[in-house]
Amino acid sequence: MNSPIPETGACRVVRGACPHDCPDTCALRITVQDGRAIKVQGDPLHPTTHGALCTKVSRYTERVYHPERVLHPLKRVGKKGEGRFERVSWDAALDEIATRMRHIAARDAQAIVPYSYAGTMGLLQGESMDRRFFHRLGASLLDRTICSTAGGEALAATYGGKIGMHVEHYAESKLILIWGSNSIASNLHFWTYAQAAKRNGARLVCIDPRRTETADKCHQHIALLPGTDGALALGLMHELIVNGWLAHDYIERHTRGWAALRERALQWPPERVAAVCGITADEVRGLAREYGTTQPAAIRLNYGMQRVHGGGNAVRLVAILPCLVGAWRHRAGGLLLSSSSWFPIARAALQRPDLLAGRVPRTINMVTIGDDLLRRGGELLPDGTRFGPKIEAIVVYNSNPVAVAPESAKVAKGFEREDLFAVVLEHFLTDTADHADIVLPATTQFEHLDVHGSYGHTSVLINEPAIAPQGEAKPNTQIFRELAARMGFDEACFGDSDEAMARVAFGDAVPFDALREQGWVQLPRIDAPFAEGGFMTPGGKCMIDAPGLGIPDFVPNHESVQSTPELARRYPLAMISPPARNFLNSSFVNVSSLRDIEGEPLLEMNAADAASRHLADGQMVRVVNDRGHSLCRLHVCARARPGVVNGLGIWWRKLGVDGTNVNELTHQRLTDIGRGPSYYDCLVEVEAA
Ligand code: SF4
Repeated sequence: MNSPIPETGACRVVRGACPHDCPDTCALRITVQDGRAIKVQGDPLHPTTHGALCTKVSRYTERVYHPERVLHPLKRVGKKGEGRFERVSWDAALDEIATRMRHIAARDAQAIVPYSYAGTMGLLQGESMDRRFFHRLGASLLDRTICSTAGGEALAATYGGKIGMHVEHYAESKLILIWGSNSIASNLHFWTYAQAAKRNGARLVCIDPRRTETADKCHQHIALLPGTDGALALGLMHELIVNGWLAHDYIERHTRGWAALRERALQWPPERVAAVCGITADEVRGLAREYGTTQPAAIRLNYGMQRVHGGGNAVRLVAILPCLVGAWRHRAGGLLLSSSSWFPIARAALQRPDLLAGRVPRTINMVTIGDDLLRRGGELLPDGTRFGPKIEAIVVYNSNPVAVAPESAKVAKGFEREDLFAVVLEHFLTDTADHADIVLPATTQFEHLDVHGSYGHTSVLINEPAIAPQGEAKPNTQIFRELAARMGFDEACFGDSDEAMARVAFGDAVPFDALREQGWVQLPRIDAPFAEGGFMTPGGKCMIDAPGLGIPDFVPNHESVQSTPELARRYPLAMISPPARNFLNSSFVNVSSLRDIEGEPLLEMNAADAASRHLADGQMVRVVNDRGHSLCRLHVCARARPGVVNGLGIWWRKLGVDGTNVNELTHQRLTDIGRGPSYYDCLVEVEAA
């Protein structure tokens, strides 16, 4: 194994990359002694993450050597969901999977569905040989929407790609709006730069329904109602217009469609915004004044705010703001939601969609897997199309849908179907693995090769295998390679090694030997990318009137006191479900030292809401709506604003209080753009348990 960092005594240090769904993508140094990883640290030389890891990943060795790791293939012996398995050989497991898949594919391969997301962000273990396998098979395609497509597609429609400011330039900003992001918990290295700016006199404003740890440390917190960010952006525009704070020259030269949006924004005076957002008109005016009169002004937008019905339109509106004040002229001004389009990823070479050979399988949206697992073959869908064949087999990897997909009672019911053949590639017996017919042991990040881009910075990273696979675990790539062989797929691409795929992942843009030598390669980039326009759109302008989308507008929630007053009479509280600080989605929930910090599933509630329900801090409560219930420990605190409760996630159901989690309450309705989930667009009531 290539380990360019010199070995010391019996120890050696191996270069790695954090695989988790986090914008920071830290460079790691893993210390290995006698074949065992004994320490994981950040690499101090990596330019944007400079050696600091979050608490979660600093415990990664605990996860790798966890006594409950799945180390051998398992076959179900109990009922679905019971989690009772017997050990079987790899040959027996793969033979059974191949036999079942051949049988189903002989009728219609679309009845087989892959289900994966960002359990690893690695390009090899996340989206290479697996995609080749399912493309060759002709299985259903998966619309991987569960996190960021509303905001991602909205940003791309506006700027032409998912690009923005460079994270280190926030240190030079004079005003930073931290919008929909608990950066201390989920974007730690951005927060380091924001603190540097604060020390240099910058003002920090947090815009978030929850008073997060980040909000605590900002100069101001604007606690708007969930799903009203688009209205706030329109109100800011109103004030920029009426007070003459617009950068007319920039707007004229580098945007398209402002005149129509200007008319719309003039319909949103601060009083109207205040009524919709649940804040004061003075908060709107004050924020607009600061934004309109401070340079350089920067926005760090994150994906939390787009998990509502109008999330796509809200991102479009916020993304237009830096153009209106000319913030892009400075490298410390503008906006960052994602940097992922800077990376020239050779997806076609990795995933080989050509293996579809002209077939166009149906697409399953991963958000609606609860409904889709329960559908009949050929069922008429609400949009007038037909569903296609009933789902007969599902292969889950890098994801835990029974815990994380919305409306989880339906998801669990689907996975309980006796006629569904479920295969799960995993490290642990998660809620989803408990429902599998076959569980295959997958390697962790310490045990395989991978290469990574990022959505928070602009360097490519390599992850070298540091230790041998534990037990009989195999990399996802190898598992799909062996399945392909058993299925008789004899195309040469199924013989590609992981290193061969790593070498082509970024085409010629990243010299692989340099990547190995240093552990990362910084992409070439421009300091202030849109100082003179140059957006990635066809005409180089910021598209206020994006083709097919028109002028952005405020889109109300699917469920809210204002949009569904009848429903709100029964369920008057808006619930958001941000991740608990020591979990990353559903990862790390089974790491005892981290779960001990979190204690139990918590529901944060404002004192006034608790008092009106005669609820006391520390008591067990039942959070309910028509879809189900979840039991939580009540935390009465100022982290929740009146009318909103925060159900911290995402607990594994079986590690929660009564086998439920907050996704019992969320629904499967989609966002306005990007077909994403509306997790934070959910009404509930809370009662004593
Ligand atoms: S989760 Fe984020 S902050 Fe933590 S180590 Fe990974 S990339 Fe770094």
